Amino acid sequence: MRFELNEKSYLAELERELAIDSVTGQYHELQDYFIKEIKALGFQPEVLRKGGIIVDAGGEGDPLLVTAHGDTIGLMVRHINDDGTLKVCKVGGLYAYHTERENVRIHTRTEAVFTGTVQRKNASVHVTEDELNKEVADFDKNSFVVLDADVKNAEDVRKLGIEVGDYVAVEPRFVYSNGYIKSHFIDDKALTAALMELLRSIKEGTVVPARKLYIYISFYEEIGHGGSAVPADIKDFLAVDIACIGPEQTSSEHKVSIFCKDSRFPYNLDMTRELEASAKEAEADYVLDIFTPHYGTDADPALVAGFDVRHGAIGPGVRASHGYERTHIDAIKSTYSLLAAYVSK
Ligand SMILES: [Zn+2]
Repeated sequence: MRFELNEKSYLAELERELAIDSVTGQYHELQDYFIKEIKALGFQPEVLRKGGIIVDAGGEGDPLLVTAHGDTIGLMVRHINDDGTLKVCKVGGLYAYHTERENVRIHTRTEAVFTGTVQRKNASVHVTEDELNKEVADFDKNSFVVLDADVKNAEDVRKLGIEVGDYVAVEPRFVYSNGYIKSHFIDDKALTAALMELLRSIKEGTVVPARKLYIYISFYEEIGHGGSAVPADIKDFLAVDIACIGPEQTSSEHKVSIFCKDSRFPYNLDMTRELEASAKEAEADYVLDIFTPHYGTDADPALVAGFDVRHGAIGPGVRASHGYERTHIDAIKSTYSLLAAYVSK
């Protein structure tokens, strides 16, 4: 039986989540949003001390934890340059060439927000030698943030309240067109939004957990320790994250992928087979895939932290991961159907 995603509700949820900046470590606003929404659905969220939300979604026996991460890659002010531009460094795997000419928001310690753009030192074609035009963007060499403010030196910038250590979030540029979802940070808000839809379905009774189910919104996946603090009684850990598309990848923007292995570990064989059986039952269009050399999910740190659990991962095929990402609603629908079937089993 196929579990149908409420497309309208899902897209509205995704857009709301994308509009809230949440670079790893800068989780408060998004966490507050989730707490409010989860309580409105009648569930009681538990909040981790380091940031993160765990929801007991009902069911009994053999606890299964399903997670997606609310944190995104982003930037931080590294140094205020003498000319009033900002040198930035990456938080997680966000490279300069994926942020060129993107608008950004700078979040200060006093919660003021300033806007700016990532620019090259030599940004204007007309007055730049060809050699420099061909240079790859690099935050240590030729790329920085230009503020939308009349600042001429570092002192002017500091007067605004901007300081070293301030978070700099890239505007997601969400677009939905002909079934295609285009945005920064589809990784992993496409899936936190899917988990919120799952909670809605559980509340409405269209999905009934067959075993105890925890939903976990992590805020530290992009730096590798989101999965290290989870309830002690869990038996299985399922990460829902993006399936990267590339040469020799089976993943597709129209399908859900079941992960066999990432850069760190093979996923639990029994659990992978169960997920495949659920995909068939759920009439989900699925593929099996492997993700190397630069990929791990929040399921990996759970094992490293010492939890004796089985781990698995699934997710929609996503193009241009950590860049301007794209997927299709088909892949989200198949991911949702597989997920709903697996927790109902
Ligand atoms: Zn991710």
